[in-house]
Amino acid sequence: MEMRWSLDEVRALFELPFMDLVRRASDVHRAHHDPSEIQLNQLISIKTGACPEDCAYCSQSVHHDSGVRPSPLMDAETVVAIAKRAKEGGVTRICMGAAWREVRDNAQFEKVLGIVEEVSALGVETCCTLGMLTKEQARKLEAAGLFAYNHNLDTSRAFYPSIISTRTYDDRLRTIANLRDTSISLCCGGIIGMGEDREDRISLLHTLANLDPPPESVPINVLSKVPGTPLADQPDVPIVETVQMIAAARILMPGSIVRLAAGRHRLSVSDQALCFLAGANSIFTSEAGYMLTDAVPCSEHKTDRALLDALGLRPKAPAASGA
Ligand code: SAM
Ligand code: SF4
Repeated sequence: MEMRWSLDEVRALFELPFMDLVRRASDVHRAHHDPSEIQLNQLISIKTGACPEDCAYCSQSVHHDSGVRPSPLMDAETVVAIAKRAKEGGVTRICMGAAWREVRDNAQFEKVLGIVEEVSALGVETCCTLGMLTKEQARKLEAAGLFAYNHNLDTSRAFYPSIISTRTYDDRLRTIANLRDTSISLCCGGIIGMGEDREDRISLLHTLANLDPPPESVPINVLSKVPGTPLADQPDVPIVETVQMIAAARILMPGSIVRLAAGRHRLSVSDQALCFLAGANSIFTSEAGYMLTDAVPCSEHKTDRALLDALGLRPKAPAASGA
């Protein structure tokens, strides 16, 4: 059983002198993980844009004019071809995203189940992020061989309505509970740099760390400012605050994978090294230089292989069988 954390205990981590926090996080990291391993993930947007939700950060919402061109659900063949190339580039987890509010019980979902089966058969970990799910839909994804599901809480319960008005924090928690009825592993984290204050970051980590069990994977995104969205002009997040968030997540969720996700492309090699020292052990890498849409940049396979080589790190093998 993982330990449980009080809000005061989480706050105390944020009050530690920076170097002490990093030192402590690094010790926890080394006690629970091989510090020379980094998980390499790649996103594939299997259905892009025209999303009815109004998430203020997102390039895919119909409510903002980000210039992202919508595209319908991809064929399995196309997804498998991208996934194969990703695997050759060292990627061990393929994350497939669809710009949906929620999954519907229709032919599109059946098609996604087929895609999950085919990509899982390549011997990579598969992850989907498709919006809200019922218990039955989660069970179908489990039966198709899905390894993980991403469903971020994004920020604190208090700040959530300033970012999204088309769903609630409890809607998000309900999907997470539905997933916990299956063996699918949970990927759940948030975004910093959306105008939240320190208490919101503390509250988000407090909620995540007290999920029972905590998410197996915790993405920490730094807002990628998308022109045309309401958050386009937010100030940059200082690197010290990014590292602080990673270090606190590492200490609070010792056994989880902590992912330095969106926003990494802006960081220098030494900034990223500091994130890895503080306990980040997973990154997104890309074939074409972007995350889900070309509005959110991501560094490429070659750059990331060089980064890992320079730091003496190596890609983590997939946990799924058949690799
Ligand atoms: N529609 C699905 C959902 O909302 O769960 C999945 C797709 S969504 C693009 C996946 C996650 O990417 C979001 O929850 C958010 O945390 C992150 N994200 C999206 N746009 C971002 C941006 N501009 N900057 C940082 N993170 C972002
Ligand atoms: Fe839609 Fe997901 Fe983007 Fe929100 S984050 S607008 S739900 S694609």
